[in-house]
Amino acid sequence: MTSLTFYGGVNEIGGNKILLEDKDTKVFLDFGKSFSRRARYFEEYINPRTSNGIVDFLTMGLVPDIQGVYRDDLMVMAGRKPQKPEIDAILLSHAHSDHADYISFLHEDIPVYMGAACHLILKALEERGSRTIEREILNYKPRPYNIKDKPIPREINEFRTGDKFKIGSLEIEPIHVDHSVPGAYGFIIYTSEGPIVYTGDIRLHGTHSDMTRDFIQKAKEVKPIALITEGTRIADEAKEESEDKVYKESGKKVAESENLVFTDFNFKDVDRLKTFFNIAKENDRKFVVKINDAYFLKYLSQDKHLDVPNIDDENIIIYLPKRGSGSYSDSDYKGNDKEFLDLHNTWTAEQIAARPNKVLCAIGFYSFTALIDMKPKTGALYIHSASEPYNEEQELSQERIDAWLEHFGMNKFQSHCSGHARGQDLLEAVKEIGAKTLYPVHTVHPELYQKVSKNMVLIKEGVKYNIS
Ligand SMILES: [Zn+2]
Ligand SMILES: [Zn+2]
Repeated sequence: MTSLTFYGGVNEIGGNKILLEDKDTKVFLDFGKSFSRRARYFEEYINPRTSNGIVDFLTMGLVPDIQGVYRDDLMVMAGRKPQKPEIDAILLSHAHSDHADYISFLHEDIPVYMGAACHLILKALEERGSRTIEREILNYKPRPYNIKDKPIPREINEFRTGDKFKIGSLEIEPIHVDHSVPGAYGFIIYTSEGPIVYTGDIRLHGTHSDMTRDFIQKAKEVKPIALITEGTRIADEAKEESEDKVYKESGKKVAESENLVFTDFNFKDVDRLKTFFNIAKENDRKFVVKINDAYFLKYLSQDKHLDVPNIDDENIIIYLPKRGSGSYSDSDYKGNDKEFLDLHNTWTAEQIAARPNKVLCAIGFYSFTALIDMKPKTGALYIHSASEPYNEEQELSQERIDAWLEHFGMNKFQSHCSGHARGQDLLEAVKEIGAKTLYPVHTVHPELYQKVSKNMVLIKEGVKYNIS
């Protein structure tokens, strides 16, 4: 007997939590945080209370209320009996929060499988940030905790493309796919009833689209009995986009400027990081990064396949923010950050501002207070290299970005290429794979897949679907 139960990613973008049961084996495909669900009840000044462990999350439906899944310490805090885990493994498709973050709540004895580069990103995220109950993926501290408690590591198993491994009655074949973060995988899972395919998040217009095509080809060859596909942009109008377009049009803007240039993008997107790093080098500008992002360079440069520069690269400068006394004194910088400050390539805002046509600053909106110290001259350039706003909150941020730019007389340029496949590409991929049954997730328009599948399930949350 084989079945799928969807506890997240149903009529929402992200928050995937998919339970696959086969005979006595149970695995979760991703266990992500649902931003939309969380935002239904919580915002900046009202958050789930860490002091209440998992209870706020369970009560408000941010995690499913199921047995034999969660950490012992959290169950005790919730006044429940701790239980041996009933789940054999978590298969993590990639490091984005909407797929990974709520692994934090899962039982300590459940092993987690992830790509090697995905592991590096999670290490960088862990080292740079302070601990929160919503991000304890690689290790956790039993609650309530003492600051001196040592974190307890989870069992992490890394894989790479070409690996195959067994979990109970299942055989798992992870296959690299292209997405806006390295170490992203789709899975072919061989069950006792036949192969089940899960796309994770994919795109077909990126720098490494050949990987996604490989995945589609292999998925087609195994003749899957079920395909779980993402559908983030299924309803979007097609438009021309590629990383090369971002590189060319942004590069042209930078080449034309004699002024300070800022670029705002997600640093976990290694393709975008390399795009702007290369633009900087070609224009004889140093690539200025924030301390927060230096952690990504430190870890991702360890994977030679990714070809990411390390923090001591001659083209990299680390921006030294004002902290504490505001006088850049040694004692203002604490914790892990100190590691980067002993390097010789840190510059203050004033040092950066003194070389306006010699720097390309990867400094975005959340660090715009830096502009107050850098005093950009009229005509300085801001390249917004992220998606355009798609909800009210983002629109408000956009208005604030525009207000800052107007205040300093800066010019804005928008250039981006999405991490998710275009609608037409998704439909073609699904048609090509030709699975017996289709289960769309990670979308608010699953019905649009009807065009390419005769046997499509409009999933309901928490319902068990038998697969045969
Ligand atoms: Zn996602
Ligand atoms: Zn993603």
